This record gives sequence, C-alpha cells and structure tokens, in this order.
Amino acid sequence: MPLALHDPSLLRNQCYLGGAFVGEPVEPVDNPATGEELARVPALDAKAATAAVEAAAQAFKPWSRRLAKERSSILRRWFDLLIANRDDLALILTSEQGKPLAEALGEIDYAASYVEFYAEEAKRVSGETLPSHRVDGRIMVLRQPTGVVAAITPWNFPAAMITRKVAPAIAVGCTVVVKPAPETPLTALAIAELAHRAGLPAGVLNVITGPAAPIGEVFTSHPAVRVVGFTGSTAVGKLLMRQAAGTVKKVALELGGNAPFIVFDDADLDAAVEGAIAAKFRNMGQTCVCANRIYVQRPVERAFVTKLAAAMERLKVGNGLDAGTTQGPLITSRAVEKVEAHIADALAKGAVVHMGGRRHSLGGTFFEPTLMTGITQDMTVAREETFGPLAPVFAFDTEDEVVAMANDTEFGLAGYFYSRDIGRIFRVAEELEYGMVGINSGLISTELAPFGGIKESGNSREGSHHGVEEFLEKKYLFVGGI
Ligand code: ADP
Repeated sequence: MPLALHDPSLLRNQCYLGGAFVGEPVEPVDNPATGEELARVPALDAKAATAAVEAAAQAFKPWSRRLAKERSSILRRWFDLLIANRDDLALILTSEQGKPLAEALGEIDYAASYVEFYAEEAKRVSGETLPSHRVDGRIMVLRQPTGVVAAITPWNFPAAMITRKVAPAIAVGCTVVVKPAPETPLTALAIAELAHRAGLPAGVLNVITGPAAPIGEVFTSHPAVRVVGFTGSTAVGKLLMRQAAGTVKKVALELGGNAPFIVFDDADLDAAVEGAIAAKFRNMGQTCVCANRIYVQRPVERAFVTKLAAAMERLKVGNGLDAGTTQGPLITSRAVEKVEAHIADALAKGAVVHMGGRRHSLGGTFFEPTLMTGITQDMTVAREETFGPLAPVFAFDTEDEVVAMANDTEFGLAGYFYSRDIGRIFRVAEELEYGMVGINSGLISTELAPFGGIKESGNSREGSHHGVEEFLEKKYLFVGGI
C-alpha cells in the first residue's frame, strides 16, 4: 500500500547527486513492522561515489565564497521546509525505521533544530588577532571551511544523524556527500529533496545509496575528501579511521556506548523510573545513549524494580503508525538475536527475568520489553551494548563501587545518575568517564549542547557552537613590515 503522504513527491527512489536525482532503483527498502516493500533505491558503486565526491569538490569553492548570510538564508529555508513537511517526513521515517510516529515527529523537529541552529551559527564564525612576537608584525588566525565532507550515517535516527553533520558543515562553507544506512535511505532522500527546494546549489549536498564497503573506500581514500564523519558501530568506526589514515583525513566519530544509569538511595525514585523509561525504551532501546546498565543502590532496589515494572506495564508494543504504540519493531532479526543472546547469557549466569524476555506475539522483529535483576559485571550485557528493550538491573552498595563499575568499559558516550545530594552530584559527575552525563534526567539530547563521546565512543562533538569545529581549519597569517 502506498504511503498516505500529503506530498507523494517526497518519496524519492533515486540518489541526489550534483543537484539531480539519478540512479536505477533496485535495492528494496522494507517496513520492519509489516515486512512490506516501501520502495527501491539505487545501489551505486565506487564510480558513482567518486562522481559524488567530485560534484561536492566542484561545488566547494563557490559555496565557501558565498556570504555567510546567504548560506544562512538557504539553511533557514531548508529548516522551514522540514517543519512544513514534518508529517510526511515522520510517516516515511516510521515506515522504514519502525519507531512510534510520535517519536518520529520528535526526531524530525530535532533534526530540523540543527538546521535552524546552524543557519544562525553560520554568521558567527570568526577568526582572531593575537599578540605578535614582533613590533613590526601582526598575527591573525582565519577559520576557513575544511573542504569536502563525507558522512556515513546509521538507521536509528535516519533524519537527525544527517542534519547534525550536514547543517554545520554547509553552514561554514563545506560541501557534503552522505551515505545513509541501507535500512533507512528514504528519509535521507526526502530531506535532500527539501534541501533542493530550499535552493541549495548543485553539489553542495549529495546523498548516495549503495553497498557500504566500496563507498566507504572512496570516502576514506579520495584526496578531495577532507573530513570523514561517521555515526555507527565502533568496529566500522575503527575501520574507517584506519582507511582514512592513508590520506590523513580528519575523522569525526560518534560510536557505540554502554551507558550506565545509576540510582542512588537518596534519589527521587519516581523521577528515576521516568528517566529510566525514557533512557532505556526510547526507539525500542536502539540509541547509542540508551541506558544499557541500570545500577540501583541496594536499600532502594526492591522499590525501584517494583516501580519500573509498573511503568513498563504501560509500554505498548505495536506498529509505530498505530495510535498508542510506544514500542515498535526492532530494526532487523539480527537485532532481535542480539537481545536474546544477552538475555540467555544473563540467565545462564544466574540473573532472573522479571518481565518479558521473549519475542512478542505480534511476530516479526517485535520484542517484549524485558526487565531482569541479579545482573553482574561478568555478564555480556555489562560489556556490550544490547541495543534493544532489555533493562538489566545491577545492585550496588557504595558510591566508589558503582563509579568503578560504571567506568569499567572501553566506551564513554553517555552516563546518567539520580541523586539529590549536591556533594555526590559533583563528585560522581566529575568521576564518570563519559562525554555526556545526565543528572536527574534520562534525556539529554539537544542541538544546544555538544553531543559526543570519549574513549572508544568517539572523538568529536555535534551540536552547539562546538559543532562547527570539525568543519573549520585554522590558518595563521603573519603580516610583516608594518
Ligand atoms: P549497524 O550494525 O548498527 O547497522 P554499522 O556501523 O554497521 O551499524 O552501520 C552504520 C553505517 O555504516 C551504515 O550506513 C552502514 O551502511 C555503514 N557501514 C557499514 N560497514 C561499512 C564499511 N565497511 N564501510 C563504510 N561504511 C560502512
């Protein structure tokens, strides 16, 4: 059944390259809730990826020489179009990704907020003058756009992961080639269609679909590409970093997490439960900032688990397009198998299932929201990101002990804790080895703050005024003979 879009022309089945929609639609895109084919998109090869990079390279100089105000106006028009078409974009997003429609609408607003923010920020990129080492000379620092940016994005936020990279890059004068995830190319192409309508010149933004490895090879080896931006798994991030070493590109990585969510015995338990639901079950647990390990201080463990179970009873699994659904399907059967493997491993090592634990009766990739207790650090779920609707509860005794457990991972993206003790809030916030810490809040993402990780979770920041840094070079000028 065709999607009931107000504007059916937003459903593009060709790639956006050099300002035109091109390519033979061959690769099916399926709805994870129904298994239905939504559309087909091209499977472009390395040659087409090279052409896209070259289109971006050709567009770079003229785009970078435009007045910041002109770039800003185009971004602003793009923002307005994203908002005006949010219902259609959200429908496309839910249909190919599965998340509930309300969350998809939230994601479109969130994705658009980066375009709005960087439309404003475009006008505020400035250089500096520094004290000179000679009386007859002056030191200046220009901040200039880096060049062509190649971006590879995941399926869990099909809109926001694109605008978070593309908006700051083009705001400062870079040009971009994006390869979206094969599961969710339709949202990416709809966003590109709106950029085209907003008047973005040909080649400034290109979106190509096709096999990841050969396209990734071009992105990481073509001399015109100066920045490789990637959001996805740590394994692929490491591979791209190695590949990009050959031409010394900047590599901006947003990789996996293993977020601890700590509830101290002085916490407001109702607020902690609300935060845990948001941090664990948003997008069916498929976000890199999702709570992966829930640590609860022993005196409040029983009360917290009872309240969390009651809140989880209210989650409703179903097709994301049905009213009232809070949990859609998981993205693929591979994702379901990972959740099952984490549950089986925890059970084998002595944990207990309190709720759920199985595939949902709806079939397909639907899974029951699952609550487990008796989780310990030796279980797989303590080491790896589950990326699914499994809430594993660990008990702990002391602050030092939980901080050590929370930091005992190679990941360092987001962490959360609940406490009302001001001293503890500062101590724990400073000790947690994470790029982002939510304190008494299970939701932290906003275009106004720098999003990113440390350790093996990444090396860049997206959002806020920091988000343009990846796309700017500093050039030092020395003016002598004054
Ligand atoms: P996931 O397993 O959650 O899909 P990935 O890291 O595999 O996470 O995918 C994130 C993005 O990286 C997707 O766009 C995917 O197509 C892309 N990707 C996967 N493998 C490679 C690769 N070898 N080179 C470049 N991109 C890749």
